[in-house]
Amino acid sequence: MHSTASDGTLTPSELMRAARLKGGVDVIALTDHDTVAGVAEARSAAEPLGMHFVPGIEISTLWSGQCIHVVGLGVDITNAELLETTARLSTQRDVRAAEIGRLLEGLGWPGMYEKALRKTTSRINVSRLHFAKCLLEEGAVRTIQEAFDRYLGNGRPAFVPTPWQSVDEVVQLIHRAGGVAVLAHPGRYRLASDWERDLLVESFVDSGGEAIEVVSGSQSGSFTQMCLGWARRFGLYASTGSDFHSRAGSRPFPGSQGQLPGGTRSVLDLLGIRSRD
Ligand code: AMP
Ligand code: MN
Repeated sequence: MHSTASDGTLTPSELMRAARLKGGVDVIALTDHDTVAGVAEARSAAEPLGMHFVPGIEISTLWSGQCIHVVGLGVDITNAELLETTARLSTQRDVRAAEIGRLLEGLGWPGMYEKALRKTTSRINVSRLHFAKCLLEEGAVRTIQEAFDRYLGNGRPAFVPTPWQSVDEVVQLIHRAGGVAVLAHPGRYRLASDWERDLLVESFVDSGGEAIEVVSGSQSGSFTQMCLGWARRFGLYASTGSDFHSRAGSRPFPGSQGQLPGGTRSVLDLLGIRSRD
């Protein structure tokens, strides 16, 4: 789940309260894009509500020209290398955002960089989603999806290729920070073929990744079966995630996304956590 520490709309505390009081969640992880800035606040809000809180992060990586998200669960948020990396990624996002702003200006939409920065907390971790919201507000597009399809998506006119670290480097980093690496939403990447998707899972496993998001807020039941197949074939643990960003978004509200199918080895086992369900 994402908070205002990256491109979500609820603060870490609001998100924890909503998940517990409205969603009935009992184990929760905050996994903001490329930052752990919201984790301490989230933990302070989650634990008094009786939830088991898992500190997390969702790190952007590059594999075969695609941005692949690798989630780290149970990471130590005081780990120096992790914090150095997140600081660097925040700067890298800012440099990318300035360039996106220049490209959008050339396409007839000036001032978007400044506007996007104003949507972030403390001007850190600006995301393409912030730009998409600005374009929507300006009337440049009618939906967030259209903003990605016309301007911000891979290969579109305001897309800026970013030198994210490799999957391998990020899995190692997560391990050095004491966490478990999870391949996030395997169905959301635009890969050329099923064969290439298979290759992605294989190289994630070769890097030492331990788990795969089997149930995601954004995928069909048949794709869940494919993820289960990978989990079994490679001995990966399974996780479920809503990928919640905002109440207005298309992702399920925390606690309402699908549970893991029976017979799966949950990533919670690996983290030494038992859900009350
Ligand atoms: P960034 O990490 O800045 O590249 O932005 C990633 C965020 O943009 C994700 O959290 C998604 O919510 C959103 N996003 C990425 N691609 C798309 C897309 N094709 N359609 C809609 N939202 C997208
Ligand atoms: Mn993601």
